Amino acid sequence: MRLFGTNGIREVVGDKLTSSFVTQVANAIGGLNPPGAPIAVGWDGRTSSPDFARIVTGTLSLAGHQVVELGVLPTPAIQYLVPRVGAQLGVIVTASHNPPEFNGLKLIAADGLEATRDGEEAVERGVERAVVTSVSYDRIGEVRSYPDGAQQYIGGIVGQVDRRRISERKFTVVLDCGNGASVMTSPTLLRRLGCRVITLNGHLDGTFPGHLSEPTEANLKDLVQAVPAVGADLGIAHDGDADRAVFVDARGTYLPGEKILTLIARDIVERKSGGVVVTPVSGSQSLEDVVVPLGGEVVYTRVGSPSVTREMLRRRAVFGGEENGGLVFPNFQLARDGAMSAAALLDLLARKEEPLAELVRDLPAYTMIKERLSCPVELREAVLARIAAEFRDEGSRVISIDGVKAILEGGWILVRPSGTEPLIRVFAESHDAKRARELADEALGRVRRAIHSESAAS
Ligand code: MG
Repeated sequence: MRLFGTNGIREVVGDKLTSSFVTQVANAIGGLNPPGAPIAVGWDGRTSSPDFARIVTGTLSLAGHQVVELGVLPTPAIQYLVPRVGAQLGVIVTASHNPPEFNGLKLIAADGLEATRDGEEAVERGVERAVVTSVSYDRIGEVRSYPDGAQQYIGGIVGQVDRRRISERKFTVVLDCGNGASVMTSPTLLRRLGCRVITLNGHLDGTFPGHLSEPTEANLKDLVQAVPAVGADLGIAHDGDADRAVFVDARGTYLPGEKILTLIARDIVERKSGGVVVTPVSGSQSLEDVVVPLGGEVVYTRVGSPSVTREMLRRRAVFGGEENGGLVFPNFQLARDGAMSAAALLDLLARKEEPLAELVRDLPAYTMIKERLSCPVELREAVLARIAAEFRDEGSRVISIDGVKAILEGGWILVRPSGTEPLIRVFAESHDAKRARELADEALGRVRRAIHSESAAS
């Protein structure tokens, strides 16, 4: 039984994600190892998160485990704290950027990295066998809270950058927390870095009243307006669990995630005179264009941060990340980290004379288009197989690390199933904006036709 997608379990609350389901999963997690080192539990700001976290905590403690409750924190803060509280595992109740009706569970290994697929499969087997561990009254695990987590995480990030140099620039920053878990840490972090901070959607609210929690350009209209309106140097937005950060320049231009990924990769590889940068197959060609001439190497993985961070560990990468604003700074931790990304970009801006808009203008110009189509989960594999066969028949080069990536005239397209929602995602990239649009439209047409044929066949 497959429960975990590319980023943990994510389901609609009250539908598949019920109290009894979460209890089952928590029992399976509790059954992975005998009681010993504690298990850390943290959660995001979703309406259902405190209740599901209580179920997880209660189930684990009744199975004899000590539990350290980290409370509401960004996913990367919880990952940072798991090894620091000596936990054998971490459990995060979060659905990241998904719409408000979702919630989910993420499993973190003792080293703070996302659990391997093996770990997730062990939990899935436990759920299948309906494992329940229950100890006698005198062996129930202690539950303790850990109130210092936010400060410890913020202090860790501040230690990674040149705080004095950043502070001297007295940056004005508009920060859109999107009512997510970043409200616990990012405003404080930016103030510690000497920024004047203006927050949007800066209170925790699991109904996401400001905008949906995915930090896309369409969802960040207020931020895009606010940055030039208040004369800020930078706009920053996080997704719901703040493992991602996206940026808006002083003129109010939304900068796609791949631009910042490429900008920071260039800076790190330049300063280290080389090194491996890891990104999924959805990554922009611009990354290779800047990294390779500096003596670096780009390594591609499947989509999903667990694949990226595990490969970074294996290859001792100097940097890595995804085109959606999920950046990984291995000097700090092998986790996508929105607050660390914001601090790293401020550090870079503090070292440079030019504003962000100018720095980004120097990067290779590519247009990447990201689209999505609803597709029933049961049809996705057949749809992808059909599209791959079409491209192969036409003689195009097809890369199948994840989904179907086809190298076409003047660019590439990638068609892959979302790991978290019943969607097919389509990416297209070209030097030429018009060609990128054509490629995206062509791919969308192929997906629509394939969904149509497959649903007629099933
Ligand atoms: Mg996230």
